[in-house]
Amino acid sequence: MTKNYYDVLGVDKNASKEEIKKAFYKLAAKYHPDKGGDEAKFKEVNEAYQVLSDDKKRKEYDTYGQTFNGQGPMGGGFGGFNASDFADMQFDFGDLGDMFGDIFGGFGGGTRTRRGRDISLEIDVTFKESVFGTERNVLINKVGTCDTCEGTGAKKGSEMITCTTCNGQGKVHDVKRTVFGNFQSVRTCDTCHGTGKMPKERCHVCRGVGVTNKREEIHIEVPAGISNGEMIRMSGMGEAVSGGQSGDLYVKINVQADKLWKREGNDLVIKHSIKLTDALLGVKQSVEGLDGLIDLDIPAGVSAGEVLRVKNRGVPHVHDKKARGDVLVKLDIAMPKKLSKKAMSLVEQMKEEGL
Ligand SMILES: [Zn+2]
Ligand SMILES: [Zn+2]
Repeated sequence: MTKNYYDVLGVDKNASKEEIKKAFYKLAAKYHPDKGGDEAKFKEVNEAYQVLSDDKKRKEYDTYGQTFNGQGPMGGGFGGFNASDFADMQFDFGDLGDMFGDIFGGFGGGTRTRRGRDISLEIDVTFKESVFGTERNVLINKVGTCDTCEGTGAKKGSEMITCTTCNGQGKVHDVKRTVFGNFQSVRTCDTCHGTGKMPKERCHVCRGVGVTNKREEIHIEVPAGISNGEMIRMSGMGEAVSGGQSGDLYVKINVQADKLWKREGNDLVIKHSIKLTDALLGVKQSVEGLDGLIDLDIPAGVSAGEVLRVKNRGVPHVHDKKARGDVLVKLDIAMPKKLSKKAMSLVEQMKEEGL
């Protein structure tokens, strides 16, 4: 082993991944040869980062003073940093893509699959709707597939010809000269999106792009049992992108609070007030449930604060609609404010009996 990787990056042995990344970015920018930095130092910094940014390699390094993955301590990937290796070679920047994208001026990453943007929106539902599920139609503005050409970008009936940008190859080669040699990268042709063909006449609505700005009505199904703040993901309902995959739509559900009902997991909690005499003698009553009346058989002698459990009348489980939580009725006893003489004498009699 030559240098201590922690010393190279100037970080503590217990440095977090974030600290290591920060130190690396700073040093890489400092030593970058294009900016007049020290090439040898730059390699050293990169080597240290390759090991310390990878949990497995870092652990090996901490334990054995080296790593075993690949050929020697540097491992695979971007590790073996020799200028000659890069000449006319295609490579994947991997997790260094963002940084080297900066350094080499947007180089790399061109062959990644294009994907449309995700969209997120919020909808309000009532408490009852959240319990039993509901539906909404929402109008949104987004980049969507062109209806006229159905995304092909071609005028209807237009014949397809060989792409003039890539000569039918579907790929475009970019060459970038740097101090390490010539970098060549291959990216998918923007004109034909890799098919090698293009329409002779373009769609006049989207000008051949295949996507347009549009206003679209989206149908959202809110499942029964959803909680406040939960997110519904609608795959492929986000923005479309020319020659790629559409993004996703995320719908955040805001559940309005209810005056009477509260939710505890899948159980519904409600307060119910009864008269003192009903508490003493017991009573059959019903309360208005979220889906019809709920019959209660209140036993004699209940206390204030006691909870009656009514099975299977609560919130349906999100993943199993047949299963429901319970309704919990929390009892309150309304004390009479004023007693008649007769009633008072009865209470005094109860007192004499030690009640
Ligand atoms: Zn079109
Ligand atoms: Zn092309």
